[in-house]
Amino acid sequence: MPNTLGDKFKRPMRDLRISVTDRCNFRCTYCMPKEIFGDDHVFLPKSELLSFEEITRLVTIFAELGVKKIRVTGGEPLMRRDIDRLIATIRPIKGIEDIGLTTNGLLLKQYALKLKEAGLSRLNISLDALDEKTFGAMNGRGITPSFILENIDYAKKLGFQIKVNMVVQKNVNDKDIIPMAKYFKEQGISLRFIEFMDVGNDNAWSFEKVMTKKEIFELLQKEFELEPVDAKYFGEVAKNYRYKGTETQVGFITSVSESFCSSCTRARLSSDGKLYTCLFASSGFDLRNMLRSGASDLDIKEAVIRLWEHRADRYSDERTEETAKRKKINMSYIGG
Ligand code: SAM
Ligand code: SF4
Ligand code: SF4
Repeated sequence: MPNTLGDKFKRPMRDLRISVTDRCNFRCTYCMPKEIFGDDHVFLPKSELLSFEEITRLVTIFAELGVKKIRVTGGEPLMRRDIDRLIATIRPIKGIEDIGLTTNGLLLKQYALKLKEAGLSRLNISLDALDEKTFGAMNGRGITPSFILENIDYAKKLGFQIKVNMVVQKNVNDKDIIPMAKYFKEQGISLRFIEFMDVGNDNAWSFEKVMTKKEIFELLQKEFELEPVDAKYFGEVAKNYRYKGTETQVGFITSVSESFCSSCTRARLSSDGKLYTCLFASSGFDLRNMLRSGASDLDIKEAVIRLWEHRADRYSDERTEETAKRKKINMSYIGG
């Protein structure tokens, strides 16, 4: 068994993003547009989701293969009942150094304390605008930003390290860039601008709708003095800056304008147990089938090694309007 697993471009496998449910209480226009994910949409039945025991077994195996960071995501991970129990079981697994959870923040009042007690310390919370109308339209459910802001405040008081993620689309929420930056600078919370991506095939993506890092940065520079912060580790996705004279950071996830495939160390596990080696993949490897048909840990390990060693994904490096039309897996299913 290799000491360090490497893919075709010598990228190690360091992170595992686990989607714990394909359901969500939002209908973000760029992820699960309500016209497509309507009331009659059929989500996975519980029996098809990996159980917490199955996830825990896989995390142990992945940790032995070099994974150090886990991100729990979805869909909306707080819609998976007793999600705190999963955190508590994967946290002590040998080799796992860091666990984070990405949430839209709607259910944080119910869950934040339990998550804290389970040992979670980092939360990424998504919020796309401070303007009520804009945010209500983007989340597809009319949820107000003040509701999410209260929950962010609550989680902050509990001691969570928080990063706020904002997906920026041209002529949709670009007017909210400065208000969001001002608000979170004031709060001492790191804000990250995410370039709108062509995940899945349902979000009517085009290059024209992408507000690039360069464009956002130019806007910010008119208001703030920013200084670059060095990357903390190989494969760090965000390019970070600090507001001069403060410790508060602002970051950019430049998946479209400055792709970072060459340092991508992330594997993704869908809620029904398929392993994907890229966010833009069109098919995954069925680990659930192995788990449920009596495969040993060694069998699973060997299958993952084979898959990773053949990995040659670099979708964002090669993105064009044409590749955007390829069949891809939805983000709510594969996990963002
Ligand atoms: N429901 C949780 C949430 O929204 O935070 C977790 C899952 S969500 C798929 C994870 C992240 O992906 C969110 O920050 C979301 O804004 C981002 N995302 C979803 N669709 C996107 C897209 N088309 N382009 C860029 N980011 C996207
Ligand atoms: Fe739900 Fe998150 Fe997708 Fe929005 S981005 S629809 S909150 S999974
Ligand atoms: Fe990684 Fe695929 Fe994204 Fe490139 S496009 S950074 S390989 S997930």
